[in-house]
Amino acid sequence: MLLLVLDGLRPGSINAKLMPNLARLAAQGVTYTRSRTGFPSETMVGAGELMSGAYPERSGVTSNLMMVPAGPSRGVELKSLAGIEQMRDGYGGRALASTSIFEALGSAGKTSAMIGKEGPAELASLAGADWTVSSGGSLTSPRGLALEETRASQPLAQMVEAVAGPAPASGKDDDGARSRWLVAAAAAVDAAHAPDLLTVWLTDPDKTQHGHGLGAASQRAALLDADRAVGQLFADLEARGVLADFDIVVTSDHGFSDHVEAPKVPLADALNEAGLDVSHVVASGNQHLVRFRHDPTPQDFAKLRATIAAAPFAKLVRTVIDNPRAGVAGDRRSDGRLTGRDLRQGSTRAADAYVIYQRDDVGVPGPRSSGGRGPASVMANPGSNKAGHGSLGWSDINNTLVVAGPSFDQAQRGRAALRTSAPAGIFDIAPTIAHLLGVATPGSMQGRVLAEALAGADGGDGHVGRVKRRRSVAWTDVTLGARTVRTGLVTEWVGAASYLERLITRG
Ligand SMILES: [Zn+2]
Repeated sequence: MLLLVLDGLRPGSINAKLMPNLARLAAQGVTYTRSRTGFPSETMVGAGELMSGAYPERSGVTSNLMMVPAGPSRGVELKSLAGIEQMRDGYGGRALASTSIFEALGSAGKTSAMIGKEGPAELASLAGADWTVSSGGSLTSPRGLALEETRASQPLAQMVEAVAGPAPASGKDDDGARSRWLVAAAAAVDAAHAPDLLTVWLTDPDKTQHGHGLGAASQRAALLDADRAVGQLFADLEARGVLADFDIVVTSDHGFSDHVEAPKVPLADALNEAGLDVSHVVASGNQHLVRFRHDPTPQDFAKLRATIAAAPFAKLVRTVIDNPRAGVAGDRRSDGRLTGRDLRQGSTRAADAYVIYQRDDVGVPGPRSSGGRGPASVMANPGSNKAGHGSLGWSDINNTLVVAGPSFDQAQRGRAALRTSAPAGIFDIAPTIAHLLGVATPGSMQGRVLAEALAGADGGDGHVGRVKRRRSVAWTDVTLGARTVRTGLVTEWVGAASYLERLITRG
């Protein structure tokens, strides 16, 4: 089983011209046009969801910049081993709060490897992957090292370096080289250990899209480069005669949208000046995440909203969503208010409130997202990026999901390039992998097996199996000074599996 993650790959980018290898693969399998990642739509959050098969409320990875007790007020970056370990140690010794797909496979006697981007690779290592190789150069896999000793094989680091050379130094525009190195390392690990689950996580097109924007010539070059690396991996597996045996899932951790010019919102200063007892204010996509030092009361939330309503940047604020801690008054939706629980962020590791900013369709100047269905985002921390992700807008939430290989063989259906609009998400991948490898799905996983895409699920009519879906909207009124905003959260459902879709606001 091969799980390929192309960081930040938008579903529309897979076409015969830009990504011929992935387009060919998609033509033999099933493409989900309405797959999504969770909220916030960020890399490490997506990594947690992918590995745990669950939303942040269970994975415990609630944002890229984690709010860690006694940690820095601007949060701890999870992009390195040190950051992930700091998060783990701050929250009782587990990096991922619930059972990972790697642990589920391990306890059933199956093996797994992760070769990929710094951050997700380290998280996989701490979450039980047997062999991990990180583009950051740190090779850390306690269980993998133990296996190495028992099998008396060459240590992983030496083996990878002998085959692929040293990891490319981190630099500005060297992601083509990094992709080539990662797939060479992946092919070597597969040849040496043949893990039941081989995961490869490429750093592009994310990095190039951030720096150059969507639709730029360098973005197209990055897509071509990433696809070429995928083609090389397929060729390496083919040369060993094993490619045809692989079920392959191609996904991305989030979508993307262009950024608009936006002033930096001095939210932390405003809250501190108002005397709010706030420990963390963290920028994430087009929202700020706020955490109090103490368990916040309804009065604290009211003061937070009043402070924001009176601030000079009030007109940039779209809505504020509270996330009362479990056991504290108002933590249930008895008053009908939308809370962080609805955003699937009900966790001791989560923010207490989400301050969500406007989009350009309500008067903030700036270009529209190129090619995306959603508008561009006002970023909480604009920086120098031309494009990004993190919001609950469709462009950011909508991720890539393609499944192919013997278990998904569509040839019998007599048509190529099958596409389905069935609701699906990044949290469905782990339960689907468990199913395909014959391993029991851990009870903590919230996704579903993508049964409609399995070979033979079409009932002979040439279409992907039908999926019964329903849709719900949870509404709430949020008062910000003189303004009352009606906010709705649109969610789609397939059985018990739920898929956040978008936030809609009126007023
Ligand atoms: Zn990413």
